[in-house]
Amino acid sequence: MVKETAFYDILGVKANATPDELKRAYRKLALKYHPDKNPAEGEKFKQISQAYEVLSDAKKRDIYDRGGEKAIKEGGGGGGGGGSFASPMDIFDLFFGGGSRMHRERKGKNIVHQISVTLDDLYNGATRKLSVQKNTICERCEGRGSRKGAAQMCMTCHGTGMQVRVHQLLLGMVQQVSTVCHSCQGQGQRISQKDRCKACAGRKILRQKKILEVHIDKGMKDGQKILFQGEGDQEPGLEPGDIIIVLDQQEHPQFTRRGEDLTMSMELQLVEALCGFQKPVQTLDKRTLLITSHPGELIKPGDTKCVCNEGMPMHRRPFEKGKLIIHFSVVFPKANFLPKNKLKELERYLPVKEDAEQPESMDDDLYIYADLEDCDVENRKRQRHQHYYVDEDDYTSTGGVQCQTS
Ligand SMILES: [Zn+2]
Ligand SMILES: [Zn+2]
Repeated sequence: MVKETAFYDILGVKANATPDELKRAYRKLALKYHPDKNPAEGEKFKQISQAYEVLSDAKKRDIYDRGGEKAIKEGGGGGGGGGSFASPMDIFDLFFGGGSRMHRERKGKNIVHQISVTLDDLYNGATRKLSVQKNTICERCEGRGSRKGAAQMCMTCHGTGMQVRVHQLLLGMVQQVSTVCHSCQGQGQRISQKDRCKACAGRKILRQKKILEVHIDKGMKDGQKILFQGEGDQEPGLEPGDIIIVLDQQEHPQFTRRGEDLTMSMELQLVEALCGFQKPVQTLDKRTLLITSHPGELIKPGDTKCVCNEGMPMHRRPFEKGKLIIHFSVVFPKANFLPKNKLKELERYLPVKEDAEQPESMDDDLYIYADLEDCDVENRKRQRHQHYYVDEDDYTSTGGVQCQTS
């Protein structure tokens, strides 16, 4: 039992979520609420990142589970102590390898895009066309924003793009504050209206649509990144950023991926479990496997068996595959599926009862006969209810309510 679930709720997962589930949930939300995409949701993004920072660390998660947010804030967080969270942006960069802050000075912005893929895509490989919006340097003015030589240095900031203000504090202390120059919006230069480039209206960059062809290789994984180097936003004087495509695998109705293996469950009738069966399973590349259990083999409820080389293909070695793991459940026949006289017959074929526990004497005084009842709570409530409303006659004939007084 966890003390509180707020952090789990923020990420939209259950308190028993696996590290993988946490990571998936975080990635989805981080992409949705990242300030680059959704500037109004900065607070939400911070909450998501803080929750993930705690829950992704086994030690911190344990502290949170036992003592809640208070325990984390009280310095149980370890490492830095005092519950000081790393900047959410750093965590985000860690995830996507964008390094957006460190490199912002000399590199245009990275564009992160998530694409939804099916397990079939990851098994067979696929190609997707993706349309992205990005900033490109205006070709007409080559990123100058004007005719050659028409730009003049901004006199407010002397070309630096920054203004320094000095604040007078108490006791003769001064504080220097740098802000972006408001006359030139940090450009460091001014272009008169008539000299402005007609194509980009002096903005130097254009917003353009670009179609990317994304190749999904066989064996790629959920969360894997595909990098398009230098295809991100362009800015004058900077190296262009990258486009990063993140694969997001949708759940498959039949198969679940575990690393290179695929797992599925299969339901057997009792007769199949005991006497053998053949059942077709369609693979992700549309072949049909005939899953076979020969007569004489036996599958018990809860058994796990596997078929070698029918799992996921390995990335870059697609001819090698993992295993197909099958979890079996066995459906028993309904009560009274055989007339009582036939049961004796069936009993003859089944392994003999161990009779050590059989009563030695049938003397009624020595034994209390105890019938079995269904004991789930819903049933019990219903039966107790019946106790009061069912006719006396019916009540005695069902014989099932006497033992409900436990
Ligand atoms: Zn232009
Ligand atoms: Zn200026």
